Amino acid sequence: MAARAPGFATLAIHAGSQPDAATGARATPIYQTTSFVFDDVDHAASLFGLQAFGNIYTRITNPTTAVLEERIAALEGGTAALAVASGHAAQVVALHTLMTPGDEFVAARKLYGGSINQFSHSFQNFGWQVKWADVDDPASFAAAISPRTKAIFIESIANPGGTITDVAAIAAIAKAHKIPLIVDNTLASPYLFRPIEHGADIVLHSATKFLGGHGNSMGGIIVDAGSFDFMADNRYPMISAPRPEYGGMVLGETFGNFAFAIACRVLGLRDLGPALSPFNAFLLITGIETLPLRMQRHCENALAVAQFLAGHAKVASVSYPGLAHDPGHALAKRLLPHGAGAVFTFRLRGGYEAGIKLVKNLSLFSHVANVGDTRSLVIHPASTTHRQLTDAQKEAAGAGPEVVRLSIGLEDHADLTADLDAALNAG
Ligand SMILES: *Cc1c(COP(=O)(O)O)cnc(C)c1O
Repeated sequence: MAARAPGFATLAIHAGSQPDAATGARATPIYQTTSFVFDDVDHAASLFGLQAFGNIYTRITNPTTAVLEERIAALEGGTAALAVASGHAAQVVALHTLMTPGDEFVAARKLYGGSINQFSHSFQNFGWQVKWADVDDPASFAAAISPRTKAIFIESIANPGGTITDVAAIAAIAKAHKIPLIVDNTLASPYLFRPIEHGADIVLHSATKFLGGHGNSMGGIIVDAGSFDFMADNRYPMISAPRPEYGGMVLGETFGNFAFAIACRVLGLRDLGPALSPFNAFLLITGIETLPLRMQRHCENALAVAQFLAGHAKVASVSYPGLAHDPGHALAKRLLPHGAGAVFTFRLRGGYEAGIKLVKNLSLFSHVANVGDTRSLVIHPASTTHRQLTDAQKEAAGAGPEVVRLSIGLEDHADLTADLDAALNAG
């Protein structure tokens, strides 16, 4: 029989995992241990010197977490991946590997609210300056680039409106300026969109959302595409300069097309410390086994709910690229043939008060600051996640007073539309 490359659903279940060598356990065991016994003194020395791969301490590597890392690397089509404690930790560790104080990076204005906070406040304390650009105007990214720009950061499907980014258009600008493109692929998941195929050099995830998929564990992922030449000049010293603590090793020479992932692990994760718990790695692995099935159902349900809302008298408009009239529909059909995701916003005719009232009157939808759960979730950004912004900032972020965000879960969609209908018509 000819060897064939396994399909996505097969990789989602098998990539990175083998029956346990010690016990034969078929599911991946939870290696709930902080440390690993060395074979002998020479083995310990070779592990510490990065001359051999192996486990030392769970802050840096763990066998349960390694299965998660290999699985995501396979699903995204990268050379290697690193799992960390949260999506925000993935952002810190990835940028820590690329940036030095005084450096800049260009980020899309349309981003997860937490990322806007992290970039504009905490990253300033590290001396990392963010410049904002508009994903709908790729030329604005080129205009924001300076000699100190070390990265470009975008989301494939952007929060909160669920709008789709033409990743290849931004990748072309990144390539022309020899700057790595980082794509936060959280809302799409690799089932709907694989940024590396569109020119991304680094893919990040909040695994907390659709990858884990059950709203029960935090986690973050960094995927190295192996595509960026960090050795071309001395702009990325973490990878291209000799490391004194590793006997003068140059990570970019020793590890080639997965040196970025190694640098994130043996410098960033080692020193900053946001390690994933092996128990969370186990829950995330279990979630990923059903990723293709869940994403199909998420997208089917989201389309049904969006269509229902678009026809409702109390609803002014729905922003979901899966709808035929949506400005993003052509891009959605071209880039996300399996579905346009499950997070979107809609506008109520009744303004701020109507937003509050809707959230109060829903019973099947949970009012939480999260997305990508089996359960359907709702939030009114103007009174919660975006309440500290001025009215003008709220509008610019797609979070005006009348805007409600939904994350559509896996329930029967007739129950979801019935809950929305009752809440919209109440009082
Ligand atoms: C939730 C989220 C993050 C942050 O991830 P955490 O796991 O909450 O730290 C980053 N980007 C996007 C798009 C998210 O939805």
